[in-house]
Amino acid sequence: MADRSLRGIRLGAQSLQSEEGVVFMERTQHTYECTVCARENTLTFAADAEAPQTWECRTCGGEAILLVDNKTVEVDRGEEKAARTHWDMLLERRTRAELEELLEERLAYLRARRGQGESREKIGA
Ligand SMILES: [Zn+2]
Repeated sequence: MADRSLRGIRLGAQSLQSEEGVVFMERTQHTYECTVCARENTLTFAADAEAPQTWECRTCGGEAILLVDNKTVEVDRGEEKAARTHWDMLLERRTRAELEELLEERLAYLRARRGQGESREKIGA
């Protein structure tokens, strides 16, 4: 009931008489998972609007990433996309075996830094 009375009455008050044919804006919700505090932020968008891939976390201000089917989307970083990735550059300079070793070092470093590891994103790719 409360929800219903909020919808559309105030906006465009002058058009109440011709409610017939008025199309209410369809809405949809998207959820963003914060990369900093891991909280989920659920936001409402117009259904025909393309949801941005990232949003500022309402809790900590960190970067929250859009969830699709409960997984965070691959964020398109625009200008970084065209450039070679760090991974590409690494492969030009190192053998796979060397990389394995570096990865181990890196993982050990991350685990030490974060307490208990399980860090998917920050490693590379
Ligand atoms: Zn956050």
